[in-house]
Amino acid sequence: MEKRLVVAIDGPAGAGKSTVARKVAEALGYLYIDTGAMYRALTLAVLRAGAPVDDAAAVTAVVQRCRVSLAPGPNGNRVFLNGEEVTGEIRTLAVSNAVSQVAAIPAVRQHLVELQRQLARAGGVVMDGRDIGTVVLPNADLKIFLTASLEERARRRYRETQALGHGSNLEEIRKNLEERDRLDSGRATSPLRIAEDAVVIDTTDWSIEQVVTHVLRLCRRRLEACCTE
Ligand code: C5P
Repeated sequence: MEKRLVVAIDGPAGAGKSTVARKVAEALGYLYIDTGAMYRALTLAVLRAGAPVDDAAAVTAVVQRCRVSLAPGPNGNRVFLNGEEVTGEIRTLAVSNAVSQVAAIPAVRQHLVELQRQLARAGGVVMDGRDIGTVVLPNADLKIFLTASLEERARRRYRETQALGHGSNLEEIRKNLEERDRLDSGRATSPLRIAEDAVVIDTTDWSIEQVVTHVLRLCRRRLEACCTE
């Protein structure tokens, strides 16, 4: 039977990770896992409960009662919080503005990392996030780090939120990305950083199709190498 790879795609917000990961998974017949969506779902639970996002004990108490699950959907993962679909609600600016503080709390990460590892156990998975190649799946067959300039990432997020029908403002989005980059890279637990063995791709001047083609080429090369090992 053909080996089924475990592919980790990390990078800052708006670098194209989720679109690329989803398309690569589709082309290979693999499962796509959006770990950012999981952190967003827990953040939504924290906001709904009215717990202050900077109170680690209060946040921990909320997330311990939560069950997050994913299912394949037409445009990426469908996301469920305690069985309720929250796919659209987790993309609002309110969630985007709170998620990096919630994601910095160790108990939140423990809760999700365990689930993420279970989902990757059987192989045939493309998982995107911030710490996939460094912490969640350090033995992944292929690690990609996608990045792009802040301006380009903000423009992409703006177009996405417009398409989803969320009222948005380019400057507000740019500020949110900049702040999340700062929090995600600076936190003590599992900060955003490039794994030593990751392939870094700056997508600023690349189309999604070009990035997908490149990553698929890297996957095929990895599969060939696995066959001859
Ligand atoms: O990928 P997305 O931008 O939706 O992720 C939302 C937030 O979730 C990130 O800014 C980060 O704070 C957090 N996150 C994380 N680790 C991951 C995925 C996302 O800390 N593996």
